[in-house]
Amino acid sequence: MYDIIIVGAGPAGLTAAIYARRASKTVLVLEAMTYGGQIINTPDIENYPAAAHISGLDFANKIYEQATALGAEIVFEKVTEIKDGAEKTVVTPDNTYTAKAVIIATGSENRKLGVEGEEQLVGRGISYCATCDGAFYRKKTVAVVGGGNTALEDALYLSDLAETVYLIHRRDAFRGDEATVNALKQRSNVKFIYNSTVTKLNADKRLTSIEVTDRNTGEVSTIELNGLFVAVGRIPENQNFAQLIRLDDSGYIEAGEDCLTNVPGIFAAGDNRVKSVRQLVTAAADGAVAATAAIKYISE
Ligand code: NAP
Repeated sequence: MYDIIIVGAGPAGLTAAIYARRASKTVLVLEAMTYGGQIINTPDIENYPAAAHISGLDFANKIYEQATALGAEIVFEKVTEIKDGAEKTVVTPDNTYTAKAVIIATGSENRKLGVEGEEQLVGRGISYCATCDGAFYRKKTVAVVGGGNTALEDALYLSDLAETVYLIHRRDAFRGDEATVNALKQRSNVKFIYNSTVTKLNADKRLTSIEVTDRNTGEVSTIELNGLFVAVGRIPENQNFAQLIRLDDSGYIEAGEDCLTNVPGIFAAGDNRVKSVRQLVTAAADGAVAATAAIKYISE
């Protein structure tokens, strides 16, 4: 029986482990893949306070070392179910663990475009995060794919940095807010490409151009660019908890800034919960909030 089981060893989960261990709680972190979460794909983090430049991999290694040095136990098993009760039961294919409280910090993954070569070009012209990587494209040409609020806000953010921003959407109407669409229309360096999908990525070590196909006419055009920002939605990793934990229509855990879920003693931290800013610093903040709430729950 652990005091706290944390599901997921990304920045939120490992920060929660640090806070819980510093409060002398016994902590088990269960991770399905590798520690660090999505941040390991970021070549250079420039927006984390007091770390002007650090690679995502170095960041992940440092936070892992910090959590384990404090005594957090980390086991690489995928959690398939959480059961409520006087104690919480956490099930993996290999084991069943129990704890007084559970923090779900499983994150979310970017939905991919599904175009050949996409994964190999991440960090070499393809990005899923404009606020993380936009600064690398100052005075350059970029494109954003998507029609939701993320794509619109990414395009707006990038239009302050890049020389030209193409906004490519597969329909002729945006899903995101009209006010942001109107703000984009005021920007002379934003060019809209409607009813189109990215069908080919051309690269020479880095991405050099994309081919875009008009869905109505079938016409293919080539756009020379330096960066492609993919903003076609995210997939929160909450499917295994949907029986117990209340999720919104998009699959995010319905927990606010206090990280409380509908089940007492089960908390949500990081990108897998409903929130408006999904950044490294907000994931770490969630870890601290969720661990503090879990410690309070146990003591009560
Ligand atoms: P989203 O609203 O699900 O939009 C995803 C967009 O990507 C849609 O326009 C969709 O096209 C398009 N798409 C999906 N798969 C595609 C594919 N394979 N190829 C090309 N296009 C594809 O995702 P989101 O923009 O990340 O937003 C997620 C949630 O967070 C939303 O509720 C959003 O409002 C919210 N959000 C809020 C704020 C804010 O409040 N400031 C900021 C960002 C996000 P279709 O339109 O044709 O389906």
